[in-house]
Amino acid sequence: MCCNCPSSFIKFLGTAGTRFVVSKQIRASGGIWLFLNGIHVHLDPGPGALVKSIQSHLNPQDLSAIILSHRHLDHSNDVNIMIEAMTNGGTNRKGTLFCPQDALDNDPVIFEYIQDYVGTIEILREGGRYRIGEAEHLLLEFDVPVRNIHGNVQAYGMRFFASEGTIGYIGDTGFFEGLINAYQGVELLVVNAVIENQMPGVDHLCVEDAIRLIKGVSPKMAVLTHFGMSMINAQPEIMAGEITQVTGINTVASVDGMTIKIGKQLAISS
Ligand SMILES: [Zn+2]
Repeated sequence: MCCNCPSSFIKFLGTAGTRFVVSKQIRASGGIWLFLNGIHVHLDPGPGALVKSIQSHLNPQDLSAIILSHRHLDHSNDVNIMIEAMTNGGTNRKGTLFCPQDALDNDPVIFEYIQDYVGTIEILREGGRYRIGEAEHLLLEFDVPVRNIHGNVQAYGMRFFASEGTIGYIGDTGFFEGLINAYQGVELLVVNAVIENQMPGVDHLCVEDAIRLIKGVSPKMAVLTHFGMSMINAQPEIMAGEITQVTGINTVASVDGMTIKIGKQLAISS
């Protein structure tokens, strides 16, 4: 357990989105670490996930699950090494990998010999409800309320039902009205606000989409992350400030390493 963070938290090990920001490492791309209900989960291990975890004093051997929202490289690059680290080099078969079917099919992003390291592999599907952890007192449930629209890959977001509150991670998707219904009831909403303005044929959320989602879902707090170049240029903090003004909902722009403590009060701790 991270010594500074005894209570539930969500930590942004990376906040980069798109191949341009990722390949230049303008922002880090290590995905998100969740510690909820006493359970450690890594979500979307992009390039640098292992390095950023270790640098943040988070031990991959503590992980009970690794979740892949979809197979694109900025979400999956480090999935093999994170599984290897979680299982102590494959010597301690454990944990669950959650991923879409097409992450395992032709041209799998998880090597077959690495697939053997994990305790179980569960396939994400629209409407699916999943549990992480074996002991009764250490259980974390999440669901996949809807399938995203994201090019030709299977992509999903999820809602984590922690005892301290529900966290929604929308993931990569083009906007559609169904997202608003799907993420009802979350206290913290994480939005991959990749682009500043809508671009035809690009299945990503822009600032206008983020406003519609945050207004419609009405969480206690919203976090923007996964920034592409246009968002970096527009300055995510400024965009978050404008969204807060328009929606009346506290919206923050994530920065690399940012931690939000999950509790009665959602609080940024670093
Ligand atoms: Zn993607």
